[in-house]
Amino acid sequence: MASDELMEKIVNLSKRRGIIFPSAEIYGGFRSTYDYGPLGVLMLRNVKNAWWRSMVQLRHDVVGLDASILSTPKIWEASGHLANFTDPLVDCRSCKERWRADHIDGVCPNCGSTDLTEARAFNMMFKTFVGPVEDEASTAYLRPETAQGMFINFKNILQTSRKRPPFGIAQVGKSFRNEITPGNFVFRTREFEQMEMEYFVPPTEAPTWFEYWYQERLKWYLDLGIEDHMLRLRHHDKEELSHYSAGTVDIEFDFPWGWGELEGIANRTDYDLKAHSSYSGEKLEYFDPNTNSSYTPYVIEPAAGATRAMMAFLIGAYCEDEVNGEPRTVLKLHPRIAPYQVAILPLSKKESLMKLADEIYADLSPVFSCDYDDTQSIGKRYRRQDEVGTPTCVTVDFDSLEDNAVTIRDRDTTEQVRVPIAELRDNLVSRLGW
Ligand code: ATP
Repeated sequence: MASDELMEKIVNLSKRRGIIFPSAEIYGGFRSTYDYGPLGVLMLRNVKNAWWRSMVQLRHDVVGLDASILSTPKIWEASGHLANFTDPLVDCRSCKERWRADHIDGVCPNCGSTDLTEARAFNMMFKTFVGPVEDEASTAYLRPETAQGMFINFKNILQTSRKRPPFGIAQVGKSFRNEITPGNFVFRTREFEQMEMEYFVPPTEAPTWFEYWYQERLKWYLDLGIEDHMLRLRHHDKEELSHYSAGTVDIEFDFPWGWGELEGIANRTDYDLKAHSSYSGEKLEYFDPNTNSSYTPYVIEPAAGATRAMMAFLIGAYCEDEVNGEPRTVLKLHPRIAPYQVAILPLSKKESLMKLADEIYADLSPVFSCDYDDTQSIGKRYRRQDEVGTPTCVTVDFDSLEDNAVTIRDRDTTEQVRVPIAELRDNLVSRLGW
């Protein structure tokens, strides 16, 4: 399928099925902002939950944090963002559009002119004012990354969690960047969600942990069903490294328009802890009782985008095939990522059937995210579930009232099996790997 066509299909499906809506449509829209609808909010939450499960819940060396978005500008002074978090901006003298110089190769993509201004550094942080007076002293910034929350809480967490290096602090939340050219649907937006973890290690162990983390993170995408030919690792060369990094690897995904970053794994050295220590006057070190000395840990950071990852999962899962000679659209999403794991479908609106279907919903919904649909023909309902990636449908039919069994239908094979209601929950738990 042509890449434009695939993107158009995903954007249309997202809108038609309540996954992602362009924001403020009734007002004519607001450039590159999006709202996550009833199915999108489930899917995005599943992406974040799958990350949290793998990074925090299943490990005893990583703890969580939810830091504030608004905070003192001193953080951004110390971190280097006020001075360095810039993109090179050029103006087209002919049509007045603005572009990121490193994205356009000297030619205005709008009008084709080569009459561009010199590139100037444009700081991407959103500025606002805290309190009623709008002056220099009340200026604050929306965070452009979640990472700094972990550094400024290093001491608090060291003292309260009793963790010792190597250990990590993880956070999921919104970040804001005044991108010059947002676009490609939710790939690049000005408001987006990140999933970041700062892993504090003894400096000599940093290279080993760096390699460990980029392999782990690549495995996460593979385990959640992205095919390996759609993923690759790309090592940054020296000139490309950020001001704080001693090494960076990007995990890239084969987007319809080409390879693009999903996640960056960086060896941030002791840059941030030392910078905050020097700006705040607080010691941000670890005292090692074994050697009776203190050191500033190095930090390995896997930094992923939740909204960007969700888009990659949508693209990776999109399929069109044929069932009984009829075309169908199916999202082959991993059960942990799909908005619903189970759809409960009473064959008719007869009261006794709906009552049984309700009981099944009450039994399954504490365990799985379930949909309930009693509209239209059963074939149409299967198609609707396939299109949004629901891996299993449970059909309650007239025989169910007699034999106390239901039919489970598999999304990918479309195979159907009859299962006693008493065994349904356990059957789904093992089928979906719950
Ligand atoms: P890019 O080069 O694409 O601008 P970056 O290298 O600046 O990205 P990082 O600062 O490493 O990105 O941020 C970590 C992750 O956060 C990225 O891999 C991406 O998944 C996500 N991310 C960054 N900027 C955006 C954005 N504007 N919209 C959506 N996700 C983003």
